Amino acid sequence: MNLAERYRSVLTNIEQAAKSAGRDKSSVNLIVVSKNHPASLVSELVSLGQRAFGENRDQEASKKAAELKLSAVEVDWHFVGQLQTNKVKSVLDYASTIHSIDRPSLVSELTKQLQKQEKRIDGFIELNLTDDPARGGVAPSDLLSLAEQVLSSERINLLGVMAVAGLGKDPEAEFERALGMSAQLQTLAPAANRLSMGMSEDYEIAIKLGATHIRVGSAITGPRPISA
Ligand SMILES: *Cc1c(COP(=O)(O)O)cnc(C)c1O
Repeated sequence: MNLAERYRSVLTNIEQAAKSAGRDKSSVNLIVVSKNHPASLVSELVSLGQRAFGENRDQEASKKAAELKLSAVEVDWHFVGQLQTNKVKSVLDYASTIHSIDRPSLVSELTKQLQKQEKRIDGFIELNLTDDPARGGVAPSDLLSLAEQVLSSERINLLGVMAVAGLGKDPEAEFERALGMSAQLQTLAPAANRLSMGMSEDYEIAIKLGATHIRVGSAITGPRPISA
């Protein structure tokens, strides 16, 4: 299959997964993760009708965003990777949404830069569902205190929680845990009911469990050619 065929096939799978879950397909936002692929791939997908793209490293993403902006290609950028505080300013130049808010120092820096630039951004709090603190994401026990900080910043429109299913874990069980955390978050922030979960291997399961934002890379882009 070529790029267009892989893209259409994922769109069909999304539609079917939504249908079997009794959901409208428009309730599922597809973010194509374009990391390690050139701007030309993004451009080709834009011409097929895709708007939202995800990146996980600022160095690569900022270049790609600038290149596409120069060519007047309209892209809605989502930042999905671990975000260092010294990259925040740069990421805010192009991203509309950050999926990886995971610690108080990051919320402080985001708030500071957003105040300076007099703008707001959409954000998800990333959950760490593993026992490994080195993985990105907030420990479930710290979710609500981080959410309080995000809400008080008044610059971040908190959409909900983001989760990555652990390697070798049953994705359905992992997404069920994320759902439980999402319910906890909604006791504090009823509007923060969105769920960013599901990747190439498990997006259909994620849709079944209520994902509103799925982050799909290789199933659409093919294997990643540029080494990270
Ligand atoms: C790379 C990446 C994805 C996409 O992964 P695929 O398995 O290629 O679909 C999704 N989310 C995050 C956070 C990523 O880093």
